[in-house]
Amino acid sequence: MTDQARRDEIEANLAAILDRIASAAAAAGRHPGSITLVVVTKTFPVEDIRLLADLGVRDIGENRHPEAADKATALSDIDLRWHFVGQVQSNKAARIASYADVVHSIDSSRVVRRLGMGAEADGRLVTCLVQVSLDPQSRGGSPGAESVGPGRGGAAPDHAAEVADAVASTPGLRLGGVMGVAPQGEPPARAFARLGEVARQIRGRHPSATMMSAGMSGDFPDAIEAGATHVRVGSAVLGSRPRLR
Ligand SMILES: *Cc1c(COP(=O)(O)O)cnc(C)c1O
Repeated sequence: MTDQARRDEIEANLAAILDRIASAAAAAGRHPGSITLVVVTKTFPVEDIRLLADLGVRDIGENRHPEAADKATALSDIDLRWHFVGQVQSNKAARIASYADVVHSIDSSRVVRRLGMGAEADGRLVTCLVQVSLDPQSRGGSPGAESVGPGRGGAAPDHAAEVADAVASTPGLRLGGVMGVAPQGEPPARAFARLGEVARQIRGRHPSATMMSAGMSGDFPDAIEAGATHVRVGSAVLGSRPRLR
């Protein structure tokens, strides 16, 4: 594909997504400006991110270290906000804190500590979202279960406030709010409604934690209906990815 054809493709997809975000916002009685589109660029080349930036996208999502670090370095000449949306391994947390502006996937106090140390060492302030497991079996939160679901991760809903408190009391970190991924086998609207409930609880304790990151290519309108402030869209903008795992 020529560069121009790729640009046209991304531009058309982006326009369609922004349109659908605006419609979903209107249907929910919300201002479209209250919703930020994070384009998830994992597996796609830095040239695509340059095209996105040219088309006005500032918020870029990545899910793996060091792929994310390499891209942030390669694109340090443009002003982008880097969102780390993948599982954070605690031995990589400090390095992630050196380039991520927002980490969406905080689900344990251990990761909070490591991320905070990294942010402090680099003199940065990293916004953190507590990832809440929306898997139906994690409802009610089995005691001591910090993390549930292979790969997907997330704190059990009952445990989320504790992780949020840990973020809020850690120098170098700022508590932004919550994040969730809708599980298979349940209407996403139901899962996002549970996330909205946890978001409200956490806002009750930390009023500035107003962010709710929810919704991907297949379900972002439902997430907007439930109050998402940040939607993470990849394939609907960039096309299908080669399967990774
Ligand atoms: C890849 C990814 C997305 C984007 O998924 P699409 O279905 O391609 O829109 C969103 N959130 C997370 C956590 C991801 O890993």
